[in-house]
Amino acid sequence: MVEKIELIHEGKAKKVYSTSNPHELLLEFKDDATAFDGEKKGRIREKGALNLAISTLLFQYLEKENIPTHFIKTISPTEMLVKAVSIIPVEFVVRNWTAGSLARRMGMEEGIKLNKTILEFYYKNDELKDPMINEYHIEAFNLAEKKHVEKAKEYSLAINDALLRLFESVGIILADFKLEFGVDHNGEVILADEISPDNCRLWDAETMEKLDKDRFRRDLGRIEEAYREVLKRLETRR
Ligand code: UDP
Repeated sequence: MVEKIELIHEGKAKKVYSTSNPHELLLEFKDDATAFDGEKKGRIREKGALNLAISTLLFQYLEKENIPTHFIKTISPTEMLVKAVSIIPVEFVVRNWTAGSLARRMGMEEGIKLNKTILEFYYKNDELKDPMINEYHIEAFNLAEKKHVEKAKEYSLAINDALLRLFESVGIILADFKLEFGVDHNGEVILADEISPDNCRLWDAETMEKLDKDRFRRDLGRIEEAYREVLKRLETRR
């Protein structure tokens, strides 16, 4: 039995509890949804459970692909036991297609396949609304050790290759996604946070229908159904 000892952090989509093991934390996935740096708030029925189930499948898949993750086990439909890490305060965004802020920044329409995968860095800071930075900023402001950043970059691209293959096999285009990494008590960089339709852009390969949080951001409706569809398709690959 894993015991929740103390709520040590409450984020927008998850609560983090300490456990009796100092090297392990319990994540509780919430149904709360936010967008535009917290300006838009709502709830998506069953989102916590759907994101936990999707993240679990993806973490297990990535472990098989030799990507170390914080995943230990699923405790309940909305609770996951993970390795405690010190989070690197940099969001790693991987992009294969134009969408969202990239489309806006470049004055391009959405849905153009990029000639080359783009890896971007954002400073994880809610107050500043996660500004985009580059590797010079990471070093100049000591946000992370250079060797850790190198590892996280290497993993980001390897995760992209692995996830592109997996999603393609279930008829889904992985347009872009955001990753977070942490350093565990052994000093190893491992994938943390979650991988779910909350932080990926997933498009049906045939219809280009959005199967991700853009349905919430843009009031497209049928949000829960879209997340459920992603889970259903991934379950066929288990
Ligand atoms: N993303 C995220 N958290 C953030 C910002 C972005 O999970 O704080 C994800 C987002 O869901 C998308 C990708 O990162 O899959 C790229 O997001 P973008 O920079 O286009 O920002 P957006 O337009 O979504 O704000």
